[in-house]
Amino acid sequence: MAEQIRFKSGTLKVSDNPIIPFIEGDGVGQDIWKSARMIFDKAVEVAYQGKRQITWQEVLAGKKAFDETGDWLPSETVKTIKEALVAIKGPLETPVGDGIRSLNVALRQDLDLFACVRPVRYFQGVPSPLKNPERTDITIFRENTEDIYAGIEWESQTEAVHKVIAFLEEEMKVSKIRFPETSAIGIKPISKEGSERLIRSAIDYALKNKRSRVSLVHKGNIQKFTEGGFRKWGYELVQREYAQELADGRLVVDDIIADNFLQQILLNPERFEVVALTNLNGDYASDALAAQVGGIGISPGANINYQTGHAIFEATHGTAPDIAGQDLANPCSLLLSGCMLLNYLGWTEAADLIEGAIEKAFENQKVTGDFAKLMPGVEGLKTSQFSRALLAYIEA
Ligand code: NAD
Repeated sequence: MAEQIRFKSGTLKVSDNPIIPFIEGDGVGQDIWKSARMIFDKAVEVAYQGKRQITWQEVLAGKKAFDETGDWLPSETVKTIKEALVAIKGPLETPVGDGIRSLNVALRQDLDLFACVRPVRYFQGVPSPLKNPERTDITIFRENTEDIYAGIEWESQTEAVHKVIAFLEEEMKVSKIRFPETSAIGIKPISKEGSERLIRSAIDYALKNKRSRVSLVHKGNIQKFTEGGFRKWGYELVQREYAQELADGRLVVDDIIADNFLQQILLNPERFEVVALTNLNGDYASDALAAQVGGIGISPGANINYQTGHAIFEATHGTAPDIAGQDLANPCSLLLSGCMLLNYLGWTEAADLIEGAIEKAFENQKVTGDFAKLMPGVEGLKTSQFSRALLAYIEA
């Protein structure tokens, strides 16, 4: 019988038949979800000889939700995901217009999904701009709730911004605003709690996955209290909570300035295993690292609250309107996000089957059009053809 996943004493309790909500997604979401679902089900069936099965439950968000209910993000969707703890989603069209929150941001905020997790590894055969892309194998932990993404900003030359500037100059004795008459102002909150929970999650992930190095990436040389705080609180946390792991060599924690990090991931990517970053730095680094190993069509992601167990796994690309509905999209970002989900449940055998099938497909130059156009002489497969190849590898 299908059962809800539960979270007790810091661990997930997953039955053999868990209920997992999915958001199909807009645009290419419809092309890739169909294939991905078949592949997830086949991998679970083969890995556990039919003893385990996921009961998928569709929930609506995005354009499909708007067309069916008049609401871009129905409250029922958030409620269902809250109860089910774990969900997976395709890309969502963000409605354009004042006052409408990005749906992705809304889901992250409503469930307080504070860690954006992106494993970045290379698959042999994927076109990459690097000479040795296989040297990149890094898992990113990006803080998801603070920093300038809090959205605390005032527009230039408004009554509000003049009030803020007057407060800064008169009360706080700030004299460094170069052009106060025309400045816009933004606020960057970075807290001890927010930094600690993110860095703790990164370290626990590293230890669980037999990786020993965690690097704190920050801009503390310039932003001493915000970015510098992230670094300082990180080191204090490590001394307080991981002294044993440090002493027996299972854990090494270091730090690096964000601009140097962007240089080093190109020059010496093998220096990094798990990295923890504040929100904006994490945003830049995620796309730069994704590009090193083949780009957005293949990079998976998840937004997780490790304290409550809530997690949404997602394709990291957008709805790709230019190729939507044409059976052309690369399903690997969603598939690899599904592998993260399976690993999160502890169903690692099923995840390994899917990753292994993707590896084999790429080794044999079976790729979708987005990769094929970068591989002279290789003809791209349709989404459905590529998916059938993966199913065959899983069954073999
Ligand atoms: P996009 O990622 O949709 O497309 C950028 C380029 O990448 C396009 O050329 C597209 O064809 C290609 N591409 C993307 N995914 C692909 C795949 N799976 N296979 C092959 N090629 C792929 O970015 P965009 O055009 O800036 O945004 C389109 C829409 O998606 C917007 O409404 C935007 O708000 C939304 N969006 C949603 C998410 C999300 O839900 N996580 C993320 C980014 C953008």
